[in-house]
Amino acid sequence: MRDLTLRPSPISSTVDFSAEGVQHGFLRLPYSRDDSAWGSVMIPVTVVKNGEGPTALLTGGNHGDEYEGPIALFDLARTLKAEDVTGRVIIVPAMNYPAFLAGTRTSPIDKGNMNRSFPGAPDGTVTQKIADYFQRTLLPLADIVLDFHSGGKTLDFLPFCAAHILPDKAQEAKAFDLVSAFGAPWSMKMLEIDAVGMYDTAAEEMGKIFVTTELGGGGTATAKSARIAKTGVSNVLRAAGILKGTVESARTTWLDMPDENCFSFAEDTGLIEPLFDLGDQVKKGEVVARIYPIGRTGVRPLDVEAKMGGILAARHFPGLVKAGDCVSVLAVET
Ligand SMILES: [Zn+2]
Repeated sequence: MRDLTLRPSPISSTVDFSAEGVQHGFLRLPYSRDDSAWGSVMIPVTVVKNGEGPTALLTGGNHGDEYEGPIALFDLARTLKAEDVTGRVIIVPAMNYPAFLAGTRTSPIDKGNMNRSFPGAPDGTVTQKIADYFQRTLLPLADIVLDFHSGGKTLDFLPFCAAHILPDKAQEAKAFDLVSAFGAPWSMKMLEIDAVGMYDTAAEEMGKIFVTTELGGGGTATAKSARIAKTGVSNVLRAAGILKGTVESARTTWLDMPDENCFSFAEDTGLIEPLFDLGDQVKKGEVVARIYPIGRTGVRPLDVEAKMGGILAARHFPGLVKAGDCVSVLAVET
């Protein structure tokens, strides 16, 4: 059990989560530094409440270089009206706000990866303090949680919405229902490489209905991926009975990441030549990509082989690769 004698969070909210109507404000985290002795990190937040009903907690910018979530959520925060809501919507478009401002995956203040920082600590680093505020203040308010991700600067994904296989099958079924409602071109039964410290795990262990996305990558959004994010969040709110209107989900193809054979990692550093693109079918044993040593000419490239057959769901993004980088992720149609 988590220690309930922890000190209070240093974060204070300028919005009242129990008040009716639309409020735009900040989660204010005191952060004393060279350019601001009594300064704060000001994390934008919007809460829209109308009567009794479920609460949705919507987050983007968990990683600071992923943009579909912030686009959809800054847009939703600006346009959502209280009369269209039954219950409550809490919107934090850029959860790791220092990382979002810097355009980096992790925080420039403490190098904290928000999605490896849960449950956080009220007396920890800036990233740990934000995680702790979500763990002890915001997650307990929520019934459903939608956390947007994409590949950031070093991965690119087929656009999918995802949930995890869970021990509680009723909780799992509700999450997959919301994934279906989101209506991304692809829907994933997702396997995590490293689930400890994730926001996902924190929310799921609290019994929340948790859905996430990977909607593209490369450190930018596209017109298509931004559209998918905006449509998806509205669909999830409608499916949860929070937003008026009917779900406008498009046809989706379900994918499964069956085991760790879906991941391939680089075993050398060099120049990467992709031999398949996202969405292509790859057979077991086929070469997904080659890594050319770049120190000299005349050297054979290193082949990266598929350990299983499937659809290429994610790939390394920039042109150079380092030993240990994730080169490819394969998934199978279900
Ligand atoms: Zn991410």
